[in-house]
Amino acid sequence: MRIDHLGVAVTSLEKALSFYEQQLGLSVSLRETVEQEKVKVAMLPAGDSRIELLEATDPDSVIAKFIEKRGEGLHHIALKVPDLVSTVERLKQNGARLLNDPRPGAGGHLYVFVHPSSTGGVLLELIQE
Ligand code: ZN
Repeated sequence: MRIDHLGVAVTSLEKALSFYEQQLGLSVSLRETVEQEKVKVAMLPAGDSRIELLEATDPDSVIAKFIEKRGEGLHHIALKVPDLVSTVERLKQNGARLLNDPRPGAGGHLYVFVHPSSTGGVLLELIQE
């Protein structure tokens, strides 16, 4: 298991990228719009991990609501697991609160979100290796 990425909610990808790319020197490896989450995503590799910048494409988006409530900031931590289906089964059996069934997301990998009430207060994304 390893940390795949840290998800950061921003109001503007362009504005955030002017910091992460131009000032900090990271490079975008992937940009895409995830329709079902109503977000635009930019992935910036940082060593073995990545920073995922998330901008809402709709006021309905969970990212828009997050920013409305709490402002820009760290939105989730994503761990890559070797077997997502069995991990999800185990978590469900132990009463963890999952926010969705495994489904394909940015980059085509299967993922689920685990509610902060189960993880010590952090929204946790689990991704299939
Ligand atoms: Zn993510």
